[in-house]
Amino acid sequence: MIPQEDTYKHKGKRNALVRTIKAKGIKDHDVLHAIGTVPRHYFFDPAFLEHAYQDKAFPIGQGQTISQPYTVAFQSELLNIKPGDKVLEIGTGSGYQACILLEMGVKVFTIELNKVLYNKARKFLPAIGYKPFFSRGDGSKGWPSQSPFDKILVTAGAPKIPQNLIDQLKIGGILVIPVGNRQRQVMIRLIKEGEQKVKKEEFNYFAFVPLLGEKGWK
Ligand code: SAM
Repeated sequence: MIPQEDTYKHKGKRNALVRTIKAKGIKDHDVLHAIGTVPRHYFFDPAFLEHAYQDKAFPIGQGQTISQPYTVAFQSELLNIKPGDKVLEIGTGSGYQACILLEMGVKVFTIELNKVLYNKARKFLPAIGYKPFFSRGDGSKGWPSQSPFDKILVTAGAPKIPQNLIDQLKIGGILVIPVGNRQRQVMIRLIKEGEQKVKKEEFNYFAFVPLLGEKGWK
């Protein structure tokens, strides 16, 4: 995919999208700024450009989706991102969420199970100026060799919270993960307060594609 141009028209649509997600309750200025900056239309086939700035998920092939902008913003806000954080994203997909995190000044490690999506994102993101560290594999087990992380974000629906991910967080670190059945998941934010102490909070319901792999759905 060749990056398209980013015109005033696109910027105007992005600003409107920012207003939409702000109206839905997103307050974090850095998150809103990132959504207003990353050209989401770059991730769309030119035939579907009119969908790029609607607040909805969209198919990206391989039975997967680019998450809804509100969902991306909601998860990013829950992570309480600080510039310089080391963040693990599980489920690279299109790479859009990774770009949002990079735009917020963090170091991103992103892992994708699907080979086609991994290969596409690994080439495309650097081509549009975003450079996370990529890995292909089962992210339900985390990325042990790069741990510990300040933040871990899971962008697929898990049957339960994998203990490996908690183990790979720093003390004070945050895990954001949708947990539930294959149709519906509750957003969970887990804060690792001590080696054996976690605080769990539950937020809204979402509908993610399933987290596959050893600690995900079989
Ligand atoms: N973050 C993505 C974006 O910005 O486009 C959206 C991710 S999509 C909703 C979920 C992704 O998780 C899919 O690309 C899927 O292939 C991937 N996935 C599912 N199980 C996985 C696993 N065990 N490890 C890594 N990626 C996984």
